[in-house]
Amino acid sequence: MTTTNLGTIWAPSIECAPVQDLRQRQAASFQSMMVRVRSVPFYRGRLEGRLTESSLPKLADLDQLPFTTKEDLREGYPFGFLACDREELVELHASSGTTGKPVVVAYTAEDIQTWKAVMARTMYATGVTRSDVVQNGYGYSLFTGGLGFHYGAAEIGANVVPVSAGRTDLQMLIAEDLGATILCCTPSFALYLAGEAENAGRPLQNTRLRIGLFGAEPWSEEMRATIESKIGLIAFDVYGLSEMIGPGVAFECAVRDGMHINEDIFFPEIIDPDSGCVLPEGSTGELVLTSIGRQAFPLLRYRTRDLTSFVPGLCECGRTLRRMRRIIARSDDMLIVAGVNFYPSQVESLILGVAGTTGHYQIWLSTRDLRDHIEVKIEAEPGSGGVLDREQIAAVVAGRLRDNIGIRMAVSIVDPGALDKSVMGKAKRVFDIRGEK
Ligand SMILES: [Zn+2]
Repeated sequence: MTTTNLGTIWAPSIECAPVQDLRQRQAASFQSMMVRVRSVPFYRGRLEGRLTESSLPKLADLDQLPFTTKEDLREGYPFGFLACDREELVELHASSGTTGKPVVVAYTAEDIQTWKAVMARTMYATGVTRSDVVQNGYGYSLFTGGLGFHYGAAEIGANVVPVSAGRTDLQMLIAEDLGATILCCTPSFALYLAGEAENAGRPLQNTRLRIGLFGAEPWSEEMRATIESKIGLIAFDVYGLSEMIGPGVAFECAVRDGMHINEDIFFPEIIDPDSGCVLPEGSTGELVLTSIGRQAFPLLRYRTRDLTSFVPGLCECGRTLRRMRRIIARSDDMLIVAGVNFYPSQVESLILGVAGTTGHYQIWLSTRDLRDHIEVKIEAEPGSGGVLDREQIAAVVAGRLRDNIGIRMAVSIVDPGALDKSVMGKAKRVFDIRGEK
């Protein structure tokens, strides 16, 4: 552990290693991974003939190797990607699948140690110490959020309160009575909780909460500013995905200019999502990860569908781990309306912070007279003005959306509480009922 004027570093020998050393370490980890991959049924088939003792691919050849997709993982359900004996497993999780079977993610004891280490780095970088009380509002379930943050906080020696997702009253009580200083949950739940606390006349600004670790869904800088002012804390972005390990793939340091990737464990590439070619440094594309430091469940060139870019240069904090920008969106989330492509997060950044609204919104796509129709519903702040005011706000927002995204969207300001909110975790914001009668 090291303390600098730009915060604290949990594992300086890795996080601040000379870049050359890190590259050597990655190359060696990749070689060990390829040995493990030989026992994975899926890769034995996919890489036939390329996994003999003498011809194991090297990290430098990574771009010659095939991708692994979510569909591949579904095909391999439940244990087609396992690189060890079942007896070696100590934990199983599953990704939340909206369609079909989930993806089963397996961990050996060593994987759990790795998870603890990357989460300790993540949380320590934001300023979590052993004196903190961590209110862990991520779901404790097959979802990796709950246990991931739990492991990180416990590794640091902080006091974890495993409240899990939802249960607003209990969350407020923990923040008020147990003196929670750290809040971990999805950004949409943080916003919801802040609003409920405000409505109940018990604003979270009156609690000791000082740091928030938010992730598991794309969110914007504007959302960060809104949450920070509503709760009175400093908000950090955390990135991860179950297929890799859960939370702990990348994290923000005190500088908050991109997220450092734990690249001794997860080797990143950014590709053109259409051609599959690796893009030059600095370009925006799809993040592809190879879990070079995982034992039970090593994935080669996994297509995350998350869009980002690398941040050039070294960070002021002293870490040498490469940084990536906040996830703009998942490529699957792209909306195409009347021939225009855009992401829900673009809408979010244009509507947050509008006076008289809470920041909760929904985007509804439908078909009217055989044409795409898009309506953005935004929740009014309790006690805010009457119908006339709402019409004025809607007109301002509609103008902003039209000028920045390039299409007309109907905007309506709805009553407080009229929108279904994120109570258990990730918010559903887009409702596409085009083609439905
Ligand atoms: Zn940094």
